[in-house]
Amino acid sequence: MIENKIKEDFPILNRTFGKNKIVYLDSAATYQKPRQVIGAISNYYENYNSNVHRGIYTLSEEATNLYKTAREKVATFIGATNSSEIIFTKGVTESLNRIAFSFLAQYVTKGDEIIVVEADHHSNIVPWQIVAEKTGAKLVVLPVDANGEIDLKIVKRLLSDKVKFIALSHTSNVLGTIFPVKEICKLARKMGILVSVDGAQAVPHLQVDVSSLGCDFYSFSGHKMLGPMGIGVLWAKKELLEKMLPYEYGGGMIKTVDFKESTWDDIPSRFEAGTPNVEGAVGLAAAISYLEEIGMANIQAHEEELTAYALTELAKISKLSILGPLDAKKRCGLVSFVIAGIHSHDIASVLSDLGICVRSGQHCTMPLHVKLCISSSTRASFYIYNDKKDVNLLIDGIKKAKEILG
Ligand code: PMP
Repeated sequence: MIENKIKEDFPILNRTFGKNKIVYLDSAATYQKPRQVIGAISNYYENYNSNVHRGIYTLSEEATNLYKTAREKVATFIGATNSSEIIFTKGVTESLNRIAFSFLAQYVTKGDEIIVVEADHHSNIVPWQIVAEKTGAKLVVLPVDANGEIDLKIVKRLLSDKVKFIALSHTSNVLGTIFPVKEICKLARKMGILVSVDGAQAVPHLQVDVSSLGCDFYSFSGHKMLGPMGIGVLWAKKELLEKMLPYEYGGGMIKTVDFKESTWDDIPSRFEAGTPNVEGAVGLAAAISYLEEIGMANIQAHEEELTAYALTELAKISKLSILGPLDAKKRCGLVSFVIAGIHSHDIASVLSDLGICVRSGQHCTMPLHVKLCISSSTRASFYIYNDKKDVNLLIDGIKKAKEILG
């Protein structure tokens, strides 16, 4: 397990609520930030702040360099072959919308099929649904089995000449399942089908390598990997980015402007109109450095151990059902559950009184909750700053909630 002193890097974990110290188990919603990330952002504002690209003076060159280095750092972190394939966005939601409306809406036509996964986040369903509505393409829903896993036999059955695009998440934000992205990409590639992967819940947990995964698009959010809010990434193969339409128009993305016609800059600038989020990019680069220092393999092992422990302890609680696979090796570090007869908001509220932060509701996966015939669920998510003590406090808190509410 990762040493407990990691907690010291996260100032917010010193907060108390009444006499209870915070137990932060809501990382799947957003991750806490280490001093190293907060420091990198302050350092940027204290020493480098100026607008990028446009300045000849040293300060602006330095800021431009920081922005460029952040892009290169992201590219190396996810195994992209070229940093020009990294487009900064404000997060996964924007990245997926860009793929949908700057690419897919022009790529599919009436009768084509787009496959989405029934367990996925609304951000990875709704943009494709709108594209289907606009183009006459059909949305085909890939189900998950009773274990919360994707059955490759069903994938094979759904694939046909009509399918042009598959959108799936790398790991589910409710079931925790790590989906077989590599295998799906392999099947898709043979049939010339493009694959977009929502990596929001995978990038902080697994060593992601877009080249070896074999996908065509990969998206993630900075705030879900210890970085700041408001910065995210869209990675796509260069030849696809070259075909994508700009999303916003204005300064920073043009080559020439003329009242008859304007022309666009090369990628990635073509997709980053206006003043970019330099602070966000700098913070994201610092988050990546922090993760690299700990090592993604160590992070994954830590989470697996903590998740296995949580799954074992939660399974001992009567009337509690765990959503998703029961094998920690098949999951990232989150566990969602329901307790028969008790609303998830009530559980979360009792836990909050104990200083324990968990999420309750549908976690932006309404179709999944409808399929499971549950109105909501409680989700506890773990990261490097959590340990078994936190899991024990969660378990005690749930028992207390059951006593009070049951
Ligand atoms: N996809 C998944 C799997 C998520 O967990 C989330 C965030 N809950 C999103 C997409 C949307 O991320 P963001 O709000 O950072 O755009």
